[in-house]
Amino acid sequence: MRILVVEDDALLGDGIQAGLRQRGFVVDWVRDGVSALHAIAAEPYAAVVLDLGLPRRSGLEVLKSLRQEKNPVPVLILTARDTVEDRIIGLDAGADDYLVKPFDLGELSARLRALIRRASGQPAPLIAVGALSLDPAARTVSYRGEPKILSAREFDLLQVFMSNAGRVLSREQLASALYAWGEEIESNAIDVHLHHLRKKISPDIVQTLRGVGYLMPKEAP
Ligand code: CA
Repeated sequence: MRILVVEDDALLGDGIQAGLRQRGFVVDWVRDGVSALHAIAAEPYAAVVLDLGLPRRSGLEVLKSLRQEKNPVPVLILTARDTVEDRIIGLDAGADDYLVKPFDLGELSARLRALIRRASGQPAPLIAVGALSLDPAARTVSYRGEPKILSAREFDLLQVFMSNAGRVLSREQLASALYAWGEEIESNAIDVHLHHLRKKISPDIVQTLRGVGYLMPKEAP
């Protein structure tokens, strides 16, 4: 799942980016409020980690602007100031969760998984589509009760399909959900990963709709 981290502190931003990547997230990182709004307008983030004290536009202004535009992307705010008022203002402005610095990266990633889960209408920690079951925290997959060994990208691709079962996804949408800025993408990367998924799980898990995109049916095989 692709996450945007908005944090102006270089050391902290670097640490969050590395920690989330280590835990299987695809991560972009910007350091000010204006860049954050541009990035969110351009890319389909599953969630945003937003510092409140930022140059150019504050985290609170970014949040208010997103919600004014009816952008529903889940937002977790980071606050250094452990005051109740700060958290109340953030939550009232449309934040979905918060963490007070310093925080544990394991807790941050668990909270992000919970936010993404709620946003996609899947209250259970496991994502299930037909006979497929995926555990985003443990990063494991089973099909008809049998564990499947997938590469990191195959897992990410499957998670995107399962979170969007019943919806047609274009190749561009898939690529931007799976790759951060600056990552090399081979032109046929999505097709190669999908080929492997079909081979490892079932040829019918995802349909190719020529010229349109790809679809995992809601009642997957
Ligand atoms: Ca800051």
